[in-house]
Amino acid sequence: GALIAQMLVDPIGMILRWYDELQVAQVSLARLVGVRDVEPVAGDESLAPDGRDVHADRVHFGYRAGVDVLRKVSLEVAPGTRLALVGPSGAGKSTLGRLLAGIYAPRDGRITLGGAELSRMPAERVRSHVALVNQEHHVFVGSLRDNLLLARTGAGDAELWAALGAVDADGWAQALDDGLDTEVGSGGLALTPAQAQQIALARLVLADPHTLVLDEATSLLDPRAARHLERSLARVLDGRTVVAIAHRLHTAHDADVIAVVENGQISELGSHDQLVAADGAYAALWRSWHG
Ligand code: ATP
Repeated sequence: GALIAQMLVDPIGMILRWYDELQVAQVSLARLVGVRDVEPVAGDESLAPDGRDVHADRVHFGYRAGVDVLRKVSLEVAPGTRLALVGPSGAGKSTLGRLLAGIYAPRDGRITLGGAELSRMPAERVRSHVALVNQEHHVFVGSLRDNLLLARTGAGDAELWAALGAVDADGWAQALDDGLDTEVGSGGLALTPAQAQQIALARLVLADPHTLVLDEATSLLDPRAARHLERSLARVLDGRTVVAIAHRLHTAHDADVIAVVENGQISELGSHDQLVAADGAYAALWRSWHG
């Protein structure tokens, strides 16, 4: 009723807002599931990864011609390992993350997954293996079910509830009068930022990519909600290869390998203990975080 009333009062506004919402949903979904936002290339259907190892081989990249953001970056990420990217603001960490997730293609050099070049693979296939996770909100207008089915078309309700359970969202979701049919997004149930992020995580559980690029930008959540979400996230990350753009000490400290990105290049690579012992840029960063 309210929707129809609003439609009568402000039909153009409604349509524009829906349109806006759709655009946002498309962009967010693209980011979430790792669709590249370069010129869509058809992709070579015959190209499939043979393994889960990620390699960057002398990668160059810039957003604009003549401005190099990454220069000659080489990196290996073995299956199941945690790699943390650390370094000063603007060094190129997020950019490298987007390239490793197949969202941008290198201008020169190659990024391969299981030996297959990411930028030559069909986008769908890339998406089924690698996802980019960040803190943007990924809820669009539609039912809770619609929001989850984006990650795996055709999933049954039992699977959707299992995914919600895996990220501790089943409690509040079960309390909804209309359950999975509850309308969310603008005009529907207003979700808290933490709930919106749980939905994003539940989608990851459903999509089940083996490699995640995690951009842990500073949280907008209150500390309690953040801790709660962190536990769910830890469960989702478990068993997957993770490239984390680290803004916090413990993310770097707990990683198997740390890569220091400075001025578009990897300047140091090693474990926390190795890099502290080397007493270089990471050691300095660690001391500054510590103090
Ligand atoms: P931060 O820690 O602040 O997130 P970062 O190390 O992740 O920094 P990037 O975000 O990768 O660094 O940025 C590297 C460079 O690329 C910066 O000069 C930035 O201004 C530029 N840049 C980043 N994203 C874009 C974009 N979408 N279009 C154009 N330039 C960009």
